[in-house]
Amino acid sequence: MTNETSQSGSQLDTGRTLAKRNEKWYPAEIIHKRFNEERNYNEYYVHYDGCDRRLDQWLPPEQVKELLDENDDTKPGEQILSEAIAASTIDSNEGGYRKITRNQKRRHNEINHVPKSIAEMDPETAALEREHEALTRVKYITRIQIGCFEIDTWYFSPYPDDYGKVPKLWICEYCLRYMRFEMSYNLHRAECNCRQPPGKEIYRFGSISIWEMDGSVHKIYCQNLCLMAKLFLDHKTLFFDVGPFMFYVMCQVDRNGAHIIGYFSKEKFSSEGNNVACILTLPPYQRKGYGKLLIAFSYELSKIEGAIASPEKPLSDLGLLSYRSYWSWVLLQHLNASCKPLSIKELSYKTSITETDIITTLQSMNLLKYWKGNHVISVTAKSLHDLSKQYKKPKYHIDKSAIRWTPPYKKINNRHTKIL
Ligand SMILES: [Zn+2]
Repeated sequence: MTNETSQSGSQLDTGRTLAKRNEKWYPAEIIHKRFNEERNYNEYYVHYDGCDRRLDQWLPPEQVKELLDENDDTKPGEQILSEAIAASTIDSNEGGYRKITRNQKRRHNEINHVPKSIAEMDPETAALEREHEALTRVKYITRIQIGCFEIDTWYFSPYPDDYGKVPKLWICEYCLRYMRFEMSYNLHRAECNCRQPPGKEIYRFGSISIWEMDGSVHKIYCQNLCLMAKLFLDHKTLFFDVGPFMFYVMCQVDRNGAHIIGYFSKEKFSSEGNNVACILTLPPYQRKGYGKLLIAFSYELSKIEGAIASPEKPLSDLGLLSYRSYWSWVLLQHLNASCKPLSIKELSYKTSITETDIITTLQSMNLLKYWKGNHVISVTAKSLHDLSKQYKKPKYHIDKSAIRWTPPYKKINNRHTKIL
């Protein structure tokens, strides 16, 4: 295929295409087309073959061209598709990207249980997945401004009315109110008195603080938080019904106020024993250890409750990698510190991590044997030493003495009652 024989973007419709990303052409699908009045051309919303949908994007006409013959054996797409797949695969270092081979990718998928393609799913799950895809295919908001950060978004979020249709949304970093225009954002910043999340500060250590919000009390803030989070989380259905959840927002505090780093939500009463419903570190703070700090905090709350718990499934790919990294580190710490062999049950009791999560983590580290119908931890001083070098100490840790928290709800006479 040559450029001369290709159709230019302005004549293309939805369907198969080649799309240019980082100076290279990739096989892709045009999902949507719109007219950009400001620039007087059609722009195209494309999905790259084999890539996570967070890479979907709007492109100008010069960056899409007709895919002439998809079945041509010598098509250049094979090489670039492989690079695209590699580029969309995530390193084990909390969200870092690296290029890997197809075999490595297969192994990565097996270890991390990456969601199956629709063709591999049972009919009911496949139908739900198709519905989800249809509803969320196009992300209109491609950037947000929050505090001093301008951030590229990853996914569709159902901001209401015209707010959901603008290319850039302006968000107050303190009250999370959203605006369509820079001018209204500047006016709001001058008027807004908030300098921290609403609710109760339940942790402060150094410059890190964590705030607890009850979804039924701070409804608007929590809804705004969910709408913003959806821009960076693919599978998330909670937007407006925030009442059944508690929200824990982590901030970095300086002389100007408490700046949001990330958060997790938690069902007030989880019948499945989940201690986290959704968890997100905002992109500017990713790969810095804050995700694992949020996870560590969720387990500290479970320890105070005397509960053994797990995050709600499915986890996002980035979420799963952070959890795997946290679980591996915590389990290695306990195995290293113990002078006697530990059972999976004992590890679960000490860490509040469920036996299932412990088993999958130990399996991924090759520390588990199946013996006479049971899983048995199989460690040697050498294997522990080698693994401890591989899983580095987290950058940040939770100082338990700085937690000021008691469970806000308690089960009394089989009814959940709010503790004042
Ligand atoms: Zn505000």
